[in-house]
Amino acid sequence: MSITENIKSILETLPETVTLVAVSKTKPVSDIQEAYDAGQRVFGENRVQEMTEKWEMLPKDIEWHMIGHVQRNKVKYMAAYVALVHGVDSLKLLKEINKQGKKQNRQISCLLQVHIAEEDSKFGFDEKELRKLLQDSNFSELAYINVKGLMGMATFTDDMKQVRREFKVLKTLFDLLKPFIEDFEILSMGMSGDYTVAIEEGSTMVRIGSSIFGARN
Ligand SMILES: *Cc1c(COP(=O)(O)O)cnc(C)c1O
Repeated sequence: MSITENIKSILETLPETVTLVAVSKTKPVSDIQEAYDAGQRVFGENRVQEMTEKWEMLPKDIEWHMIGHVQRNKVKYMAAYVALVHGVDSLKLLKEINKQGKKQNRQISCLLQVHIAEEDSKFGFDEKELRKLLQDSNFSELAYINVKGLMGMATFTDDMKQVRREFKVLKTLFDLLKPFIEDFEILSMGMSGDYTVAIEEGSTMVRIGSSIFGARN
């Protein structure tokens, strides 16, 4: 199937409340243009340099989401245009995003990444660290940051019971925090292999790459 057909068939299965982020990392600009021509406007990348090169070449009404782990020294390259940073996992990174947002005189929208997978390798806050962050006076002083929700990645496994359990943990945390944070409305969870489960568990934003663009090398 073509990129256009893949997007159409995924969109047919998504509730209207769920935003599709088309994950275009490693894929050429021509693939993104095809998705754009099919009506897709939100794209996710995991490397700042690659995203910036694509941003320069492609239509300016694309919403670029940084979904990968961000190094602090790279924030400045995307601060002028990035629409949402999904993988924020430290106060140090938040402070740097705030600093670059201030330079650009724009508020940068972020999601806090939560560690829900059993594997050790995944980045993110645990619940205790998250509570500590939200109570930190340094956090509330970040005027150029808009924390819009949470992001998480489930364990990479075929065991959908486990995946579901991990998504439930994230959703529970999201509901717990929502009353206390303004504009807290995005729950980014679900990829090609598990997005239907993620939606059943309350996802509002899915990040889908290979089911749209095909396998990556
Ligand atoms: C690559 C990536 C995705 C998309 O993965 P697919 O399995 O290709 O859909 C989603 N989220 C993050 C954080 C990624 O790095």
